Amino acid sequence: MTCVFCKIASGELPTDFVFADDLVVAFRDIRPQAESHVLVVPKAHVESLWELEDPALAGAILGACAAVARSEGLSEGFRVITNAGAHGGQEVPHLHMHVVGGQPLGPMLTPPA
Ligand code: 5GP
Ligand code: ZN
Repeated sequence: MTCVFCKIASGELPTDFVFADDLVVAFRDIRPQAESHVLVVPKAHVESLWELEDPALAGAILGACAAVARSEGLSEGFRVITNAGAHGGQEVPHLHMHVVGGQPLGPMLTPPA
């Protein structure tokens, strides 16, 4: 198994989880881009949102994002982002949602270079 998020989700790479259930884990981004920056990751290897077809897993992921936002205390607001594929700028090819907040986040999109 070479996928880094599979290794984290399976416990092969020891990681502090801020949330975990049967289907999903969540942990802090190694290069945080806001005061709070958590990645919500399905335990099963799904490459990106493009490949996500299981509605139960989709619900578990979105519910975990909400649980993380609450446990991080993001009552002033937050953002949930997923990057998919080359045009989406996805770096890690294992589906993950970024839950970011803890400060004003500015405009959602920066213009393409
Ligand atoms: P993407 O561009 O694929 O949406 O974002 C991947 C994110 O994963 C990046 O924000 C990056 O900092 C984070 N990341 C990459 N490798 C690791 C890792 O080994 N551990 C953690 N905690 N985050 C990682
Ligand atoms: Zn994986």
